[in-house]
Amino acid sequence: MIIAKSAKDLDKMRAVGELIAEVRESLRGMVRPGISTMELNNAADRMIRDAGALPTFIGYHGFPYAICASVNHEIVHGFSKTDPLKEGDIVSLDMAATYDGFVGDTAMTVPVGEITDELKQLIRVTDECLELGIQAARVGNRVGDIGHAVQQHAEKYGYGIVRDYTGHGIGRRMHEAPQIPNYGRPGTKERIRAGYCFAIEPMLNMGTHETRTLSDKWTVVTLDGKPSAHAEHTLAVTPDGPEVLTLTKEQKRLRQADKAGMAAA
Ligand code: MG
Repeated sequence: MIIAKSAKDLDKMRAVGELIAEVRESLRGMVRPGISTMELNNAADRMIRDAGALPTFIGYHGFPYAICASVNHEIVHGFSKTDPLKEGDIVSLDMAATYDGFVGDTAMTVPVGEITDELKQLIRVTDECLELGIQAARVGNRVGDIGHAVQQHAEKYGYGIVRDYTGHGIGRRMHEAPQIPNYGRPGTKERIRAGYCFAIEPMLNMGTHETRTLSDKWTVVTLDGKPSAHAEHTLAVTPDGPEVLTLTKEQKRLRQADKAGMAAA
């Protein structure tokens, strides 16, 4: 069953969304050659707790860290490590917080120093796929429309779309119904209604979409060893369209200004 959120619930989703977005942007500013994912993890853990929230990932089915840190050919669920990130790496940082009973979940892929144009394009297209997926999360559409929007853009570039892991409903629990695949046919699957909250999270591989899991039982990597990028926002479906919840105050202001500009044009 998909749980529609009340107006009061949505206010709480907004609060936790902004909280975890602030953490994400702080981490973005910290990524550079020489820093380790363990340092990033520890910083995220501290920031989430200092804000009065809890890192949702810790203890989730036994996951040991506050963030998932997935480097290069790692797709998702990577463990934080003490070895330093290197110039030219890309790192996906995925994080969630629980605050006042609700969960916000977000991820980004960040370049470490200077990266190749190929990798820049992979990250850019992943971000674009996320935005297209968000725009499809509208009252009257269906979940298959979200996957279709992501898929048709990713496939223009020949990227492999990970099928083994999906986006999800979100609310009091991190993973609620429905599953939101990053591929699909328009007009299929669940109907989208106001009050639904979704975490949309495209995972794009430079090569094959196929994955395998390492012996740590968590880290998911590309089967062919080629790099992968991942981006995620939590959003609420409103009668006026999708409202991205995992934005900082500043990002919300810019997005509003963007919308107003587009309406005026
Ligand atoms: Mg998620």
